[in-house]
Amino acid sequence: MSAQPLFNRLALIGVGLIGSSIARAARAQGAVRSIVATARTAATRRRVAELGLADQVVETSAAAVEGADLVIVCVPVGACGAVAREIGLHLKPGAIVSDVGSVKGSVLREMAPHVPEGVHFVPAHPVAGTEHSGPDAGFAELFVGRWCILTPPPNADKAAVERLAAFWRLIGANVEAMSAEHHDLVLGITSHLPHLIAYTIVGTADELSQVTRSEVLQFSAGGFRDFTRIAASDPTMWRDVFLANKDAVLEMLGRFNEDLSMLTRAIRRGDGATLFDQFTRTRAIRRGIVEIGQDSPAPDFGRPHPDLPLEPLPRPYAVDDK
Ligand code: NAP
Repeated sequence: MSAQPLFNRLALIGVGLIGSSIARAARAQGAVRSIVATARTAATRRRVAELGLADQVVETSAAAVEGADLVIVCVPVGACGAVAREIGLHLKPGAIVSDVGSVKGSVLREMAPHVPEGVHFVPAHPVAGTEHSGPDAGFAELFVGRWCILTPPPNADKAAVERLAAFWRLIGANVEAMSAEHHDLVLGITSHLPHLIAYTIVGTADELSQVTRSEVLQFSAGGFRDFTRIAASDPTMWRDVFLANKDAVLEMLGRFNEDLSMLTRAIRRGDGATLFDQFTRTRAIRRGIVEIGQDSPAPDFGRPHPDLPLEPLPRPYAVDDK
């Protein structure tokens, strides 16, 4: 619990995985005095109230931001502009308005025109998540040790940026600032392209006629399984990400297709040296990620291994010593 809350009243617009994790973490750390929340549907608002995630659950975004000194919009990227239009005239002077969208250029373009003079707009993207959605999916530790990228516009108030950074640090995140454009390029390669590849590969496997779906599921531990987790991510969120970050994703996709062609050629020509060099380079990247603490070095991506069966393992090829 922090000694002094950083904000009096936090308004959360959208309480899914990210919004509910912020609510839980802000509570756990005493980062704010009170939380008011809203969501699009009555069902989600009811669930938020049942879970006790906020001190107050209200019906509209406009009502949620009244008197709030920190507003965080936690809805899909494509809905951020409409939310900003709805709340603009209701924001308290001096308040900080932020978001958590996975694309920053479009959010900046679509939200900024609705943020009045005297209110500080500081977009943000916590680079943390899971493949689950909704208010039940969140947890207070989601942001611990993860990065939150702030993309303040060039004329942003430095004190407001620093207050928002302090909030994210208090709930466990590391904070870095960059331009929205640069963010979209970086995340294009580290997050958006991997999701597109996962969606593609899982879809391709599903359409194979020579291999049955049950075989794909049964033998998934050969690599496929790790793509399926990413490909289970929320369809609305990811549709919006690709529509909003079109240019950067197309740029990264162009490079990816060239590299894939290079590896395709190497396989066709039996060029083992090219394959070996490429795989050696990529292995070093994985080691780098583990070294900076962004993943566990445990084998098999940190999954616990099942216990051995209590019975001795069958030894089909052992000499029968009876
Ligand atoms: P989520 O669990 O699906 O929750 C989305 C929330 O937004 C729900 O409260 C939903 O309300 C509301 N919403 C959906 N469509 C809306 C619309 N058209 N207008 C107004 N509200 C709407 O999503 P999430 O994973 O928390 O993602 C929220 C944001 O965080 C997205 O911008 C995403 O890019 C970003 N983000 C996600 C992750 C991740 O891994 N999931 C990571 C970092 C950032 P109802 O439930 O009432 O429909």
